[in-house]
Amino acid sequence: MASKMLGKLETVFSYMAHFFLQSWPEHRPGFLFLTDDEGCLLKVIPLHIGQNWGPHSFSCQEGELVRNTPGYEAAIQNGKIVVTEWREDDTDILYGIYPILEADGTVRAVVGLLAPKDEIHFDLASYLHGLEPLVLMGYDAFIQHASSEIVMNVNKYDNVRSLMNSLIQQISAVIDKGYCSAVMLGKDGTLLSQARFTTEDREKDETQLSQLLGRLMHTVIKPMVLDDEHLIVFPIYCEGRPLAALLLHLSPEDPLSKYDVRDVAFLQEVGERCSYSILRAIVADELRQDARKKDLLYQLTKKIQASIDVNDVLEEIMNSIHQLYPYLDAELYLTVETNTTLPVKPLTFQPGEAETSTQAYLEGRLVMDRLEVDGEHRIVIAAPLLGKQGIYGALQLTTNELAAMNDHEMTYISNLAETAGTAFENAQLYQQSRNLIRELRLINQMAQQLNRSLNLGEILQFVTKMLLETFEAQYCAILRTIPDSDRLEVLLSSNPEHVGATVSSTEEPFADMFRSKQALILTQSDIASIELMPYSSMMGVPLLQDSKVSGVLLVADTRPHFFSFDDYKLLEIFGQHTSLAITNAMLHNEVERMVITDNLTGLYSRRYLNERVQKSLEADPFGSLILIDIDYFKKINDTYGHQVGDEVLVQVSNLIRRCIRESDIAARWGGEELAIYLPRVDIPTSLAIAERIRTNVEAETVPAVTISSGLAKWDRDQNQNMSVEMLFHDADIALYDAKHSGRNQVRLA
Ligand code: GH3
Ligand code: MG
Ligand code: MG
Repeated sequence: MASKMLGKLETVFSYMAHFFLQSWPEHRPGFLFLTDDEGCLLKVIPLHIGQNWGPHSFSCQEGELVRNTPGYEAAIQNGKIVVTEWREDDTDILYGIYPILEADGTVRAVVGLLAPKDEIHFDLASYLHGLEPLVLMGYDAFIQHASSEIVMNVNKYDNVRSLMNSLIQQISAVIDKGYCSAVMLGKDGTLLSQARFTTEDREKDETQLSQLLGRLMHTVIKPMVLDDEHLIVFPIYCEGRPLAALLLHLSPEDPLSKYDVRDVAFLQEVGERCSYSILRAIVADELRQDARKKDLLYQLTKKIQASIDVNDVLEEIMNSIHQLYPYLDAELYLTVETNTTLPVKPLTFQPGEAETSTQAYLEGRLVMDRLEVDGEHRIVIAAPLLGKQGIYGALQLTTNELAAMNDHEMTYISNLAETAGTAFENAQLYQQSRNLIRELRLINQMAQQLNRSLNLGEILQFVTKMLLETFEAQYCAILRTIPDSDRLEVLLSSNPEHVGATVSSTEEPFADMFRSKQALILTQSDIASIELMPYSSMMGVPLLQDSKVSGVLLVADTRPHFFSFDDYKLLEIFGQHTSLAITNAMLHNEVERMVITDNLTGLYSRRYLNERVQKSLEADPFGSLILIDIDYFKKINDTYGHQVGDEVLVQVSNLIRRCIRESDIAARWGGEELAIYLPRVDIPTSLAIAERIRTNVEAETVPAVTISSGLAKWDRDQNQNMSVEMLFHDADIALYDAKHSGRNQVRLA
């Protein structure tokens, strides 16, 4: 039959025997032995070194059964000391049995003594009673010895994980009842439930320890014996700092065993003696963690300097937080837009939403809040993403254990958040410089194109194309101020139907641009409408000529916040270049106009008239030419002076302009001779016009003058080879006729 292992009791027995032998005289033979509660010999110690004494009826072999020896059964039954004696080989033998009882009175083991009677001159029963303090002494010695050994063993470890695991395994081996667990303590003396170690079966989902943690969370751990001696808790402190709690726990389904005072004493002894080792491991861990953090931060900073991708940086930061603080929930709240693939949230500034982050953002410092979410305590820490030029959001961490966060951690988290802020800033600066390059390229391209052309139509076409390509908006238009009115006319638009439409310049957004002469950017979340199109985002820039608003460039889109500030600045530059190009083109037109018109009268030049008559001869079926000469004009000059003569010439020219249509061409033919060509006009009509001019001149000029006119006509059917010179010759002859017939009259060729 196999013996029951009593674990520490066998060791305790050895210690007890050691004390026993100190009071046992030398040269006195005998045996001290230990059995389990079924009479199996576990240990036999001869009391005299080298003794050859021993009764035949008693086997001294470990593993043998001694249950049937006299008095043994009675001692176990009653739990009392029994002394018997018998005679064997002429020797009286004295036999004492001392049952060791559990707290509940059941026999745990038996210590027995066997000796020749003539050597014992005292009452063996009383003597055996004296074993009790020896057992306790043995027990104390055992505790001392076992705990020394444990302390020696755990000293081999310099990290918390290995040390605590070794510690609980060794305690469990000594106690040999239930499980041993250890949970690290926060600086406030409460349990850090995530940092735990246990001898319990890890496969089990719902361990006894996790239930116990549920009960003991959020309380400062004190030495405790709980649950009807099924649970012992002992907190380990070192120099006032809480380190860890040791727990001995028995399954509640095990009502037979309990922990006793000796277990409590042992746990306390081990806990106290290990405290420096544990502190040393914690500090070593902290140093390593610190070094790792510094290393991570260094790596992170290096990456950020090398990267302009915000996404990379954010990912890096979130990764390192997960590595360093696996128990924390990390969230990013941003006030800037980013193309990150991470689950970031916008900081909305709504009451009740991410309030810790909002406060951290607004105050630019780390903020810690204690919240209660669904009845559970939560610590929320938010650090602002702080750059040199601004704050870009907040890094928010949530935990249910405040104790896990010390001042070092706070500083570190602040550093991480600042690193993110710097990353945003770098990325933004990079984007800005890229935008700048894009702008310079566009402006260069635009200036080149615009300088190449002096044709207004071409310029407008090009500007429209640039607007559409650059801003990729749904709508663009170029508008021109109609002189002497408060309306704008669409010259060109991405919507061709708008061309020629007019809008009021006194209404917004145009009024604003006319007032400020500055570019304008509007953005609103709902759709607004100007006369041309509905929009949510709109930009406009006034075109200035001689510091007056001559027109407007407009881009619009129905998507809100469609244009950036950079777009706005770019449009401003577009406006300046367009204004310049339009002014140049208009100046050029003016020079051209001056070549075809007469400076004094504003009538067309002779060259231009000739060109037009030539074109009409080629294209039209017929036309009329009126040649006019002022009568006795020399006299006007002589009487009133040359200047008044000029004024009269202007008066006559204006009267002529009033009497003809847009399609007719009035020109200064030379000196005080004027000519009007009327394409597709027959003789009766042109005669009437010439007559009307004559009467008007006679009536309205001051000083009054009269005119003589010669009228010539051509017709494709009758004069196939009509030339400009011939037509003028005909008219000239008719004019000559008029002069010689008394002046102030119209003559037909
Ligand atoms: P009529 O035609 O009736 O025969 O007499 P006239 O005095 O008008 O004679 P003519 O047509 O030959 O004279 C032209 C005069 O008109 C000569 C010149 O003094 C004057 N004249 C020509 N061009 C201008 C001009 O641009 N301004 C002014 N003030 N006078 C002009
Ligand atoms: Mg003349
Ligand atoms: Mg004349």
